[in-house]
Amino acid sequence: MTITTLGRMGLKVNKDGFGALPVQRVEKSIAVKLLQKALDGGINFFDSARGYSDSEEKIGAAFSDRRDKFILATKTGSKDAETFWKHLETSLSTLKTDYIDVYQFHNPNFVPRPGDSSGLYDAILKAKEQGKIRFIGISNHRLPIAKEAVESGLYDTLQFPFNYLSDDQEIALTKLCLEKNVGFIAMKALSGGLLTDIGACHGWMAQYPNVVPIWGIQRESELDQLFSVMDRGTELSAAEKNRIEADRKELSGTFCRGCGYCMPCPAGIIINTCARMSLLLRRSPSARFLGEEWQKEMAKIKNCKHCGHCTSHCPYGLDTPALLAKNYEDYQKLLV
Ligand code: SF4
Ligand code: SF4
Repeated sequence: MTITTLGRMGLKVNKDGFGALPVQRVEKSIAVKLLQKALDGGINFFDSARGYSDSEEKIGAAFSDRRDKFILATKTGSKDAETFWKHLETSLSTLKTDYIDVYQFHNPNFVPRPGDSSGLYDAILKAKEQGKIRFIGISNHRLPIAKEAVESGLYDTLQFPFNYLSDDQEIALTKLCLEKNVGFIAMKALSGGLLTDIGACHGWMAQYPNVVPIWGIQRESELDQLFSVMDRGTELSAAEKNRIEADRKELSGTFCRGCGYCMPCPAGIIINTCARMSLLLRRSPSARFLGEEWQKEMAKIKNCKHCGHCTSHCPYGLDTPALLAKNYEDYQKLLV
């Protein structure tokens, strides 16, 4: 098991963290057992968010009597100080704790700073003074905001998408974090389910000692797979190198990362799934996507109002309506 230090905070964490977004999709007793098995197996860093429905509640139920055994990170999507305090108090209560180790602003579209009109940074500093949080973090999907946050010196951690599809600028961001001693927490280590070779993903990630991926886990089999590769080191087999190269060719530039920042859509389209349906069906086959329920969801693409909301909110600059139309066309072919 590899232990690493998360940025300047001196927090010692297992190099592999647990991303607790997917546990919101499983029944509470199953989630609790999964979380406990992860901690028993040596994973001691758990990341959640106020916005992940009951994820925090499940962490609270799993660990309320073992609070000193793990590092806890969560997030607030608040846009003003009043909501910030409501979120923080709710998180403390649902997590059944009196402190959060790393409290992060959840994908804001600006870098909160002391004295700005949002009041967010002043509030988080006050929460730190009160001992309700220990360190200040920020998560983001936009490279310019992420860079600005790291360079500002105001943040102890950055959470950013990172996996073997990441480009040179994103790799440079991990180096900037190293220079500035900011902890780098990697989300989307499997690119939202599009990367399926955990060995290749883990081996590639292990080459970045300052990066702590939070693997999104909702099944015991996924946790067991993670355990099986945790000590495998940075060596990649020839097959894994070929897989990485092939995936980089197939998934470059114009694919939807599934982040959901373009939503909600006024036509009710579940963009973060529908805009990558072709990839999901080919790369991680799931019969349910061909069932009646998803056929109805995909048919909503025909109702796109071309309002421009998704394109103006996509951090990857995608032409989302065109991508949706392409996916719908392909989906219909797969149905016959
Ligand atoms: S352009 Fe179409 S898909 Fe995008 S948000 Fe508007 S209605 Fe939804
Ligand atoms: S279209 Fe862009 S914003 Fe929307 S889910 Fe995909 S990557 Fe995210």
